[in-house]
Amino acid sequence: MSEASGRTATVEAAKTPEVVRIELPTHYPIGPVNVFLIKDDPLTLVDAGLNNDESWALVQQGVRDAGCEMSDIERVLLTHGHTDHVGLLRRLLDVADAKVYAHTYCAERLRDPEMGEALASAYIFDMLLECGVPESHIDKVREVRASFKDLRITAPVDGDLEHGDTIGRYTVHHAPGHSPADILFVDVDARTALTGDHIIESVTPVAMLRPVAPGEPRPKMLVEFMNSLRATRELDLDVCYSGHGKPIHDHRAAIDTILSKQERRTNRVRTILAEGEVTPYQMCQSLFGELKDAFMHMSMAVALGHLDVLEESGEAVSETRDGVLYFRTAYPKR
Ligand SMILES: [Zn+2]
Repeated sequence: MSEASGRTATVEAAKTPEVVRIELPTHYPIGPVNVFLIKDDPLTLVDAGLNNDESWALVQQGVRDAGCEMSDIERVLLTHGHTDHVGLLRRLLDVADAKVYAHTYCAERLRDPEMGEALASAYIFDMLLECGVPESHIDKVREVRASFKDLRITAPVDGDLEHGDTIGRYTVHHAPGHSPADILFVDVDARTALTGDHIIESVTPVAMLRPVAPGEPRPKMLVEFMNSLRATRELDLDVCYSGHGKPIHDHRAAIDTILSKQERRTNRVRTILAEGEVTPYQMCQSLFGELKDAFMHMSMAVALGHLDVLEESGEAVSETRDGVLYFRTAYPKR
C-alpha cells in the first residue's frame, strides 16, 4: 500500500508520540478490551471497542481525559476485525473525518459484513459438524452468533494493508493465527508495537476457526499462529501494546510462555491420541470435559489446532469418513 506510506511519511513527527490506553468493557470471556489514542500527527486511534452505548461513552471520556476530542481523530488503525476491536468505528466516523486502515481480509469484511458473516457462519457450523459436534450443541453456537448481529458494523476502509506496508511511523507486520487479519503496527524507531490479540499478558490467545472459500483446503490456524509468534519473537521491541490487558515489556518472555503452554497442551493431546482414534469433538471433551458453553467453538478450535500441530509434524494422521474428521496417531502401538 505504497500510496499511504508516501503520503504520511512526510508529515510524521520524529518525536515518539504519547500512547494513551483506554480500557472498555466486553461480555466476552477475555474481559475488557483496549483502545489506544496515539497523540501523533495525525491523531490516531488504534482499534474501536465493542459497539454499544457504554463503550461509546467511555471511549469519548477517555479521549477527552487525554485532552482531545473524538472529532479530532484523523486516523484509525485496526489490529484485526473481531467485534470487540472494530465495533465503534461507525459511530466514530459519524463524528470524525478519519481515514481507516486495516488488513485486506478485515477491510473486505468491514465493507460487506453480511458476506463475511454468511461465509463465517456457514463454514463454522459445517466445520463443527465435521469435527463431530452434535447438532444440539451447534444450535447454541448459532444462537450466540445471531445475538452478535448488533455488534457487526459496516464501515469504509481507506487503506488495505499487507505485510511490509508502511503507514506513517509504523511498519505493518502480518501475524495470522488468532485471526487471519492480525497485524502488528511496529514503530521500528521507538521499538514499540501495537499488537492486538496476537500477544496478551497471561493469556494464551485462541487460534480461531477461520472460514475458507468452498474447495479451499482448511488452514491449520494454530500451526500458522505459532509460526507468527516465532517471527514476532525476532522483532526488537521494548513495549507491546496489546488488545487486552497491560502493555508487555518483554515480548520474548510472553511469547515463550505462550509457546510452552501450547507445547504442554500438544503433549496432552499426543498422550490422549495414543489411546486411540478420536474426532476433534472427542478430543475437546477429553481436554475440557462436556461442552455446553456458548463459546464452545473456541474450545473446539483449541482441540483441532493441537491435532493439526501433530499432523503437521507427522505424528498424527487425519481422515474424513461420512463427513466426520478423525485423527489417529501415526505410531500405533504394536
Ligand atoms: Zn480478537
